[in-house]
Amino acid sequence: QVRRRKEAGYCFYRAEMNRRAREALAIEQAMLGALAADEFELSYQPIEEMSTGEIRGLEALVRWYKQGGECIPPDHFIAHAEESGQIVELGEWVLRKAVNQLAQWQLMSGRSLAMAINISPRQLLQPGFVALVREVIDSEGIQPGTLELEVTESIFLDEEVEEQVIEVIDSLRALGVRWSIDDFGTGFSALGYLKRFPMDVLKIDRQFINDIHTDMDAAMLCQAIIWMAKGLRMEVIAEGVELPEQHEMLRQSGATMAQGYFISRPKSADVITAQLQGMDKPARQP
Ligand code: C2E
Ligand code: MG
Ligand code: MG
Ligand code: MG
Repeated sequence: QVRRRKEAGYCFYRAEMNRRAREALAIEQAMLGALAADEFELSYQPIEEMSTGEIRGLEALVRWYKQGGECIPPDHFIAHAEESGQIVELGEWVLRKAVNQLAQWQLMSGRSLAMAINISPRQLLQPGFVALVREVIDSEGIQPGTLELEVTESIFLDEEVEEQVIEVIDSLRALGVRWSIDDFGTGFSALGYLKRFPMDVLKIDRQFINDIHTDMDAAMLCQAIIWMAKGLRMEVIAEGVELPEQHEMLRQSGATMAQGYFISRPKSADVITAQLQGMDKPARQP
């Protein structure tokens, strides 16, 4: 009886594994031609400066529009692309596209807007990454300080590549490029890395923002993160700000910047262009 159940569990596990492997393979194969077929697009989400309420910069977020129009969100393919290595090529495309767009928007608006770009570990560790970023900055003629590269805490966990990670961060930082810790607080990592890897911006994950307006403990935790970040001379972006109450609390708590549906959802380049041209009010267009 027990054995039969165990076997059934094992079979279920195997079936589940097979299903996932097939799914991963299907996504990988579909991605193979997707870049060439121009199926990727970038959305841009405004990031607001808390003290002025103005748009300080934007985060580039990749979207995959399959033939037929179906939109696949990054959570469904970035991990697979990381696994298969396709992220290297896709990441380069994102970098070139986003920095080109940034240069246009800076010129158009006359403001030193910033662009935040998500960088996956595999991409950062790719030989030539530093040279690529330098080349893109030069060819688009942007100020290096208006480029912000976002990495998650997971990059700091692997001791084997620590030297290499530090070298990449330092080389680009020496140029003036800024580095952000994305999804802070979700990476199962200890805080020691904050001493070894100097970062410029800390982005508090939205799970810590969720209930600050209803839960005292959540508010305290968020406040403590802000104090810590500022003590370490980092700017702070609160992610996932959806409500005016959250926004007000974060402002009072000293967060430098806010990003979330309350300020704006991610938008197409055309919509952002129109907003920057002043056809629309810039901030707070959920
Ligand atoms: P992320 O870098 O933390 O980006 C923020 C995510 O939160 C985005 O999801 C954004 O749409 C969503 N978001 C923003 N404001 C709110 C809010 O108020 N409420 C809620 N519930 N969500 C909000 P998205 O676009 O689906 O991207 C998911 C993740 O995929 C990103 O998380 C990032 O880790 C990854 N990603 C996106 N684009 C790229 C890319 O070009 N390269 C790499 N390596 N990863 C990317
Ligand atoms: Mg990000
Ligand atoms: Mg994030
Ligand atoms: Mg994320």
